[in-house]
Parts: sequence; structure tokens; C-alpha cells
Amino acid sequence: MLLKTLILASGNQGKLNELGDMLAPLGVVLHPQTRYGVGEAEEPYFTFIENALTKARHAARLTGLPALADDSGLCVNALGGAPGVLSARFAGEPRSDERNNQKLVAALANVTDRSAYYYCVCVLVRHADDPQPVIADGRWNGEICTEPRGSNGFGYDPYFWLPNLRQTAAELDPDEKNRLSHRGRAMRGLLEKLTDDHTH
Ligand code: IMP
Repeated sequence: MLLKTLILASGNQGKLNELGDMLAPLGVVLHPQTRYGVGEAEEPYFTFIENALTKARHAARLTGLPALADDSGLCVNALGGAPGVLSARFAGEPRSDERNNQKLVAALANVTDRSAYYYCVCVLVRHADDPQPVIADGRWNGEICTEPRGSNGFGYDPYFWLPNLRQTAAELDPDEKNRLSHRGRAMRGLLEKLTDDHTH
């Protein structure tokens, strides 16, 4: 891998921590776009991939550096896949994990099918007009529980229950979350593609 510095097309500290931890062993330093004075791109699309690509191009255009974007969200089957691409602003603006979680729990009161999954698309562009963005996705299945547990992670993690582990995502240590999560899977897929690109 030839990239040493990458811009993360997000100001989300949770994403920065997780993606930064995964890239550090490879000698890649991830800087949030906020450090370069880059604000959030519009995310007007209904699909994760379109939003991710838009964010990556926006960050690369304004910094002149290669950029990595993650578009991700929680999809709840009983809610027809909501909050989905709207996960960050499920309860409106200003964005609040606490209000999002309250709204989620209220929407699922008396609902028996509590199955859900996290989904993530990672996109890397080497420059703003890169005609061959590197793209990979990942999914993580779980259930929505009624009481929050744990203080690690971010967003919906205290309510994202993993039946096999009998823990929520917020109870996992950061390495374990990265091993299992939608973001970890997407990032590993992306890195594999980058390595393939480089060796072929
Ligand atoms: P984005 O910044 O538009 O991609 O929105 C991502 C949102 O999805 C976050 O703000 C969280 O609400 C939710 N989300 C995505 N990944 C995770 C995760 O790993 N844990 C908890 N919430 C997540």
C-alpha cells in the first residue's frame, strides 16, 4: 500500500477511532476532514454507496489528498430497514445519539421481531475525480434490546444486542468490535482490494 495519509470524510469521532485503529498497524495515518476545515458534504441520496462516494469526492476535492468515506447505518427489519441512511439524524437535527436511541426504542415498543443489522460501505478515492474508487461493504446482524448496556462504541451500540455473545456492541472492547463489525468487514475488504490492485 502506497498511501500514508488519508483524509476521513467525516467528523464522527467514533468512526475515526475505529477506522484509525484498523489503519494504524499498516502505517496509514487517518486525519479527519475537520482538521482541514472541510465541513460535511450533503448526503441527499437513498443509498449508502451514493452518499459514501459523494463524501469521499468532496473531502478529496477540498483537501487535494486521497480520502476515505464510510457511509453506514442501522437497518431494523420491523421498520422496513429504517433508520438506514438516515441513522445519524433519525430523531432530527441537531443530531443526538441519545434522542435517536429513544426514538428507536419507542418505535419498537410491543414489536416482537427485533432483528436488525448494521451496514457499512467504505469508499476510497485517490483524488476527487478518481474513475476507479475502491469500494467494499460489510454487514453485522444483531437485535435491538430494550435496555442500554455498555459504554464503548457510539451511536446505537448500547442497544445493539449480539445473541451469540450475550453482549451489546457497546460492551465489546474496540478490537473485538472491529473484528466483528460491519465497518471492520468493509475496511478489511477494501484493504484486500487495495493490496490486489497493487500487486497485479
Ligand atoms: P453517516 O455518518 O451518515 O454514515 O451515519 C452513520 C450513523 O449510523 C451513525 O451516526 C450512527 O447513528 C449509525 N451507526 C453507523 N455505524 C455505527 C456503529 O458502529 N455503531 C453505532 N451506530 C452506528
